[in-house]
Amino acid sequence: MFCQIEEGFMKWRSTRKNCAEVSISDAISMGLAPDGGLFVPVSFPEVDLSKFSAQMNISQIAFELMKPFFKGDVLENYLENICHNAFSFDVPLKKINDNTFLLELFHGPTAAFKDFGARFLSECFKVLYEKKKATKTILVATSGDTGGAVACAFHKNPGVNVAVLFPLGKVSQRQQAQLTCWGDNVLSFGVSGVFDDCQKIVKAAFQDQQFNESLQLTSANSINVGRLLPQVAYYVAASIWHFSQHQKKPSFVIPSGNVGNAVGAFWARTLGFPIDRIALATNANQVIPEYLNHGNWQPKSSIATLANAMDVGNPSNMERLFDLFENNVDQMRKGCGSLSVSDEIIQKVIVQKSQNKPDGWGEVICPHTATAAYYRDQLDQGHWIVVSTAHPAKFDLIVEPLLNKKIELPESLSQILNRPTHFETIDPHLNSFKLCIEKGFVNE
Ligand SMILES: *Cc1c(COP(=O)(O)O)cnc(C)c1O
Repeated sequence: MFCQIEEGFMKWRSTRKNCAEVSISDAISMGLAPDGGLFVPVSFPEVDLSKFSAQMNISQIAFELMKPFFKGDVLENYLENICHNAFSFDVPLKKINDNTFLLELFHGPTAAFKDFGARFLSECFKVLYEKKKATKTILVATSGDTGGAVACAFHKNPGVNVAVLFPLGKVSQRQQAQLTCWGDNVLSFGVSGVFDDCQKIVKAAFQDQQFNESLQLTSANSINVGRLLPQVAYYVAASIWHFSQHQKKPSFVIPSGNVGNAVGAFWARTLGFPIDRIALATNANQVIPEYLNHGNWQPKSSIATLANAMDVGNPSNMERLFDLFENNVDQMRKGCGSLSVSDEIIQKVIVQKSQNKPDGWGEVICPHTATAAYYRDQLDQGHWIVVSTAHPAKFDLIVEPLLNKKIELPESLSQILNRPTHFETIDPHLNSFKLCIEKGFVNE
């Protein structure tokens, strides 16, 4: 434990309510609660809305928002610096037409919204583990986007080593380059197998007590509150910026898979920021719209789609939404809608939105963002902010043939793609991974 929790400090409890309440830094370093649940605030802090203004930038808003969450914690005195370092890129809110706006979350180094969470978590780990003089090892099994954001954020972080496991031949060339171009404290492993094999190795590694202790294993999962809180910050910022300009509460339509991004919007609304409705766009993986229609929660195996970062059949962060709505589907229906969008529609919408106004939006969007763009068109005339989760150049193999043109890479991504790459090939077994990793980090 990093600190005693005293009265007045914000505590975190598990959604399953079968373990002790902890401080924010313990919730961040534990990731998953010991009873297998997810950490949520015991109660949401009172936020003083008058402390926020539309002139504040994203890092100032993030700091002001998170202050009450970190009050009394060992990270409190570092929070301003953590926010300054993590929120070091723009979050443009663009007007598309009178009632549609686009929130671009892809201006970070790996060009997807996952940079916010990964960078914030990395800054927190830096402080926590430097204090403990410990070296932790983060294991990430990745099918694409997450591994790149985590590797980039933790590269050269002094207290943390990272091992990235990806399925060989199952990720795109650009994705592979982003997973294998780091070196130093980041090692990459191409597993001869599929994504499930990578996850199996990670699980087995955590269960191997000796191995776990010798490497001090930890995870940087999207269920970690250190990745969620920074995602609340951009909804707070967008709602304040929008409200001050239009005197109207915006609603959000969010491309969703594991629902971590969307939990940020729900928490921002719960805290009292000016947010009207929240709509979750999914790809052909449609457990969420089915739940809202029928009231039965029935997780499924995931289906592969063009919006592959949303290929989730059992979204883990739903547990946080069930908790927020007290397992009452009627309550949830009032607070949120959801729609499933097929690959055919994704393709059509990418083409349509790229066309000039007024028919299109004059914007090239990625396949994930396309699900939300389509959903927006089915919604009413209120003010809707469509959340854009990744730069289209990350999905060149899908977007370029549809539009019949090259999409220019953002500068930061092109720098990453120009770095030399290296990875070890391993068999889909823990032993193969063990042999390689012990060699790897010892030699550094
Ligand atoms: C991860 C990801 C999503 C899904 O976000 P969740 O938090 O899992 O709902 C959507 N779009 C892109 C580009 C992503 O990388």
